[in-house]
Amino acid sequence: MTAAIGFLPWQQAQAQSWLATPERFAHAWLIHGLPGVGQVEFAMAGAASLLCESPVQGLACDHCQACRWVRAGNHPDLRRIRPDAVAAQEGAAIDETEASGNKKQPSKDIRIEQIRSLLPWFNMATHRGGWRVALLYPAESLNTIAANALLKILEEPPTHTVFLLVADMPDRLLPTLVSRCRRLPLATPGADQALAWLQDQGVDQPGARLAAAGGAPLAALRQARLQQPALPDCVDQFLRQAGTTEASAPLADVLLASEPAQWLDSFQRIWLDLSLAARGLPVRYYPDRADKIQAIAEAADPALLARTGQWLAKQRRLAHHPLNPKLLADHAAQRLLQAVLPRQ
Ligand SMILES: [Zn+2]
Repeated sequence: MTAAIGFLPWQQAQAQSWLATPERFAHAWLIHGLPGVGQVEFAMAGAASLLCESPVQGLACDHCQACRWVRAGNHPDLRRIRPDAVAAQEGAAIDETEASGNKKQPSKDIRIEQIRSLLPWFNMATHRGGWRVALLYPAESLNTIAANALLKILEEPPTHTVFLLVADMPDRLLPTLVSRCRRLPLATPGADQALAWLQDQGVDQPGARLAAAGGAPLAALRQARLQQPALPDCVDQFLRQAGTTEASAPLADVLLASEPAQWLDSFQRIWLDLSLAARGLPVRYYPDRADKIQAIAEAADPALLARTGQWLAKQRRLAHHPLNPKLLADHAAQRLLQAVLPRQ
């Protein structure tokens, strides 16, 4: 498989200033930001730029031997460390000897064997004496043993080596590991730049998709490629039924058709829009339905809306261990619709 080695348009300025002083480069970076702004893409392009033999204004030239190797995924001084499940999603073949003992389910963890396998690599000479780059993502997948093994390495960092750790939620990482890294928070692109990029990718309804993804262009692109509607079905159904005394079963059926984590995310977003509309502010996620959202918010009981928002947040935290998806969908459909009934 070939990898993209260029920075996304909204990353270039930040990348140039980051790469401007490679001689003072920290040996470990924690690259983080809103999911879907392109953290892994940034780290990959950063690795390519560090390895490039003739960078242009600090960025990978895309023509030299090193760039060709990175693109083909076989640069000897670049290692990508990610869970087998992520590698499988990327379409990479997982080496049988590297795969975990459980052959049926690829591991969702970064395992200690993967960290240990780096040790001999640190002792090898690098191509033309350049950098060695270890790209590790998502860092949240490091299990405790693997995280501690990595921490040990970072306490006495190998020469000529840069670690790029990518995380959506740095708060979930081992604090001692975070303290060994310099943080590199990635900015969320401006709407104009993100929209232009989505249009270049041929995405339909780019505005609605970008808003629904909270401004994260890669999340909007993924949603378009999966041919999901810009307005999630569950939100569409909810807006149809909101404010009426219709039975909640049709909404419950729509909820059951997708994963709890997914529809809970959508409802947390519509709930934020409702609370913005209740305060007379413009909605954020579903602007195409702003009028309807505003009408619902004005008629509903604000205290009940707020309590239901808290309930949603709690369910979202539990969503990875749902007790019974059908019960949850039935209960949620009733509760969500009741919360937006007009005040008596
Ligand atoms: Zn190059």
